[in-house]
Amino acid sequence: MTASYDVVIVGGGLVGASLACALAPLGIRTALLEAVPFKAESQPSYDDRTLALSASSCRILSGLGLWESLKENATAIREIQVREYRRPGRVIMDPEELGLDRFGHVVEARVFGAAIVARLSRLENLDFMCPAKVTAVHTAEDQVRVEFQDGDGQREIHARLLVGADGAQSFIRETLGIVSEKYDYGQTAVICNVTPEQHHHGRAFECFTRTGPFAVMPHVNGRCGLIWCVSSDSASEMMGMPDAQFLRQAQERFGNHLGRFLKMGRRSSYPLRLVRALEDVRPRALILGNAAHAIHPVGAQGFNLGLRDVAVLAELLAEEFRKGESADPGRTSVLEEYSRWRKRDHDGTVAYSDGLARIYSNPAPLARAARTAGLLAHAFIPSIRRQLAIRAMGYRGRISRLAAGETL
Ligand SMILES: Cc1cc2nc3c(=O)[nH]c(=O)nc-3n(C[C@H](O)[C@H](O)[C@H](O)COP(=O)(O)OP(=O)(O)OC[C@H]3O[C@@H](n4cnc5c(N)ncnc54)[C@H](O)[C@@H]3O)c2cc1C
Repeated sequence: MTASYDVVIVGGGLVGASLACALAPLGIRTALLEAVPFKAESQPSYDDRTLALSASSCRILSGLGLWESLKENATAIREIQVREYRRPGRVIMDPEELGLDRFGHVVEARVFGAAIVARLSRLENLDFMCPAKVTAVHTAEDQVRVEFQDGDGQREIHARLLVGADGAQSFIRETLGIVSEKYDYGQTAVICNVTPEQHHHGRAFECFTRTGPFAVMPHVNGRCGLIWCVSSDSASEMMGMPDAQFLRQAQERFGNHLGRFLKMGRRSSYPLRLVRALEDVRPRALILGNAAHAIHPVGAQGFNLGLRDVAVLAELLAEEFRKGESADPGRTSVLEEYSRWRKRDHDGTVAYSDGLARIYSNPAPLARAARTAGLLAHAFIPSIRRQLAIRAMGYRGRISRLAAGETL
């Protein structure tokens, strides 16, 4: 007999797996299908990248039972410095201006993967299938049929709600016929860990260069996560360069804020594109995380935005399941409410990161002057700086219970 679930989540990356951690404890029978094993080198979600998590994301993760195991490997962000390469003006953002002692934390995606695997294996009401690659979906009035390929060959399951959390190239988005806008920034993010001479003391640095942002994030054991956006034409040269030469060039961009960079880890690269779905729901289906909005990493908003999707969907489904027997997670009114609630945050966050990415890579003299004026305004006018800090922390619109630190 074909197995039947309340919710099937396609994609066990950062967002899909977080959603499974939110739904299963609510008694919602959930299937999570992930194509690539968590420990595989090719795993696209749990890799070497460092993730800056806002304070509200940390509260959501706490509500999902994940923060306890993440916090010992998390580094608090106690200050953010923003400047433009070789230009005057610098903004220093202090969480005390918002009455907080930290903006959030930095966690490595690989560490996140280990915490998620441990949590998923303890959850009742969850069938976690991996590797399992979804190959077809068929939506009907009362349920969705999902076909996938696993070690046993071609199989299928049924669910009342299908959630596509399968990343920027989302198969689910395409299969549902959801149209998306795409824009290639012509930039590639090269990332690695570096160990500087001096301790970072929780300071995060973002420097805007002509080819995109160059960020240094505080990390465990005095290490820092470096994210360097270069033009895609020069990405293979940057990836192939000897370590010593790469470190010299990185140092030249960053300056001596933390003394000399002494060593570095393995480099990885990510071509940067904006993908924005024009809709996020269909009958008995919705998409979230990168499947709905893959954004430029400037401002470190992508996963934070996806976690807010998770928190809102979990809240609406928890409410629906309080109806008992008559609960239906794929009810049109639930999906429409999700879409309405998330719209403002999606529009604002995509516009914010896209705007930053474009204005800072525009070499035109007028754009340069506007940037310098903008940075100086942020530096000297506390209310503008406060707005920037609030945006960096991901406060936008109606707040979900999990983001507010409450239970579902
Ligand atoms: C360099 C860089 C730095 C970043 N830094 C930050 C940061 O500091 N803070 C932040 O908030 N965000 C950051 N982000 C963004 C963040 O990484 C993404 O928002 C996040 O990974 C999105 O997660 P996701 O689960 O939606 O998608 P993905 O991570 O792409 O996961 C999708 C999953 O779906 C699986 N899948 C795909 N197709 C199928 C299928 N047919 N069947 C089954 N499974 C399938 C894939 O194997 C994958 O595991 C950064 C991104 C980059 C590139």
